[in-house]
Amino acid sequence: MTRKRIAIIGAGPSGLAQLRAFQSAAQKGEAIPDIVCFEKQANWGGLWNYTWRTGLDENGEPVHCSMYRYLWSNGPKEGLEFADYSFEEHFGKQIASYPPRAVLFDYIEGRVLKAGVRDWIRFNSVVRWVEYDEKSRLFSVTIHDHEKDRTYTEQFDHVIVASGHFSTPNVPFYEGFDTFNGRVLHAHDFRDAREFKDKDILILGSSYSAEDIGSQCWKYGCKSVTVAYRNAPMGFAWPDNWQEVPALVRVEGKTAYFKDGSSREVDAIILCTGYKHFFNFLPDDLRLKTTNRLATSDLYKGVVWVNNPRLFYLGMQDQWFTFNMFDAQAWWVRDAIMGKIAIPDRETMLADVKERQDREDAGEDAKYAIQYQGDYVQELIDETDYPSFDVAGACEAFFEWKYHKIKDIMGFRDNSYKSVITGTMAPVHHTPWKDALDDTMEAYLRN
Ligand SMILES: Cc1cc2nc3c(=O)[nH]c(=O)nc-3n(C[C@H](O)[C@H](O)[C@H](O)COP(=O)(O)OP(=O)(O)OC[C@H]3O[C@@H](n4cnc5c(N)ncnc54)[C@H](O)[C@@H]3O)c2cc1C
Repeated sequence: MTRKRIAIIGAGPSGLAQLRAFQSAAQKGEAIPDIVCFEKQANWGGLWNYTWRTGLDENGEPVHCSMYRYLWSNGPKEGLEFADYSFEEHFGKQIASYPPRAVLFDYIEGRVLKAGVRDWIRFNSVVRWVEYDEKSRLFSVTIHDHEKDRTYTEQFDHVIVASGHFSTPNVPFYEGFDTFNGRVLHAHDFRDAREFKDKDILILGSSYSAEDIGSQCWKYGCKSVTVAYRNAPMGFAWPDNWQEVPALVRVEGKTAYFKDGSSREVDAIILCTGYKHFFNFLPDDLRLKTTNRLATSDLYKGVVWVNNPRLFYLGMQDQWFTFNMFDAQAWWVRDAIMGKIAIPDRETMLADVKERQDREDAGEDAKYAIQYQGDYVQELIDETDYPSFDVAGACEAFFEWKYHKIKDIMGFRDNSYKSVITGTMAPVHHTPWKDALDDTMEAYLRN
């Protein structure tokens, strides 16, 4: 029998989890399929691979990165720690709970360097198109290799889409944007809060990007932050120069007008209006169409494409859990591909999706949603040999984090939590987040 071939699209945390999952089976002496991971960027890490670029990258492809300078983890690291590779193993000591981006990039990279899977990845390789042939039961994957400037097609038994869903911005239009006398940008293109020092900024949105980009601008000295929400305000105890107002209606010159009749002069408008699940390399019959939610449409167990169970998706959910959830999914997908887990008929898969969506819709608050996703992670790891860890403890860290944000939105990152992998308590960081202007790894790891 010929060895199965597997294509993984993307070498971000999800794609890397998939590589590590297969490598860990190989390490145990199991015969694994032939794995090829295609990554459009020159390096791995996905969103965590920072670039100063916006718009198009050096190859003329849309920039993938939506992260910015000075970004620190927005949730406690104790909620995302790999069960097979602790922070202590990587850094040689326990570190504080809200690491900056560079520190988390280093941690993500450490595990896959140890696993030795870099050779499985073809970098600067954009997947342009995927097609399935019923007769041969194979996928044809067409790739553009930017290094050799060559387009080619190869066949695979399975495709795993791990291309992320926080890179294609959702950009609304408001009357007056085209004549606004200032800068209008989406969060995807935000790179450095210092650009907005001494400026009055308007942020549209009320989710993580709005909260964090506003906080960044505040930390690095903007004059004021106005956040316009569509449904409900975020409702934290914001600093004095921060105001939440109802939805934007239009702008005129530099003046923004809001739904409650109030107005304000602003220098810049930052659209924290979310992202689209966007897969321009997939035909209609293979393409996931879903809103950003915990139970996505059409994915059995959150990973199997119900219309063709040879195709898998990783990390397509809205995320409380991240790295450890991608691991749980990757281990499960590995075992499905290697025949250790049976995939049921379409009816059963559709019923599974419906049950998950109904259960998600029954929830009303963040605590329910965290528990819901924690249960999902537990369900998957119970079905594989992913090292079991204290998922309830990780949920507890998230509950505490929520509470700490309500208590002090500009100080929540000064708290520390207990590792659910090693059981040790994180140290309190040497400098309060609001005063820590240097986000380098050296500065963060200094005792
Ligand atoms: C601003 C921001 C802040 C965040 N902060 C946190 C945080 O603090 N903590 C946390 O846990 N999570 C955070 N996240 C969530 C983030 O989604 C996950 O941490 C994680 O990066 C998702 O991993 P992924 O591999 O699924 O997707 P991504 O990280 O998006 O990686 C996808 C990879 O696929 C590649 N790719 C895409 N299309 C193609 C193609 N056609 N061909 C080949 N390769 C392709 C991309 O280049 C990329 O490398 C944040 C997200 C954003 C946007």
